[in-house]
Amino acid sequence: MINTQNTAPGIPCPTESCGHNIKVSLQDLLFQKIVKCPHCLVELTMNREASKETISAMAELHNALESAEAAKTFAGNPVRHP
Ligand SMILES: [Zn+2]
Repeated sequence: MINTQNTAPGIPCPTESCGHNIKVSLQDLLFQKIVKCPHCLVELTMNREASKETISAMAELHNALESAEAAKTFAGNPVRHP
């Protein structure tokens, strides 16, 4: 069993001998058609239908992070006028 980083967003590599976690960002999921495993260099075609749950989960995470980031920015930095 390969100890992948469970906290890193991504998808498990489908290559049995590899099994590494392929890090994909939400942007990758949404805008890239192909993602490459950095370990075995297999290219995965994004299947949005099949990845729908992953995408929505990541979208939620992304939104949560964004609001957290926005809150932090708001609290830490007063609005700057250019
Ligand atoms: Zn791989």
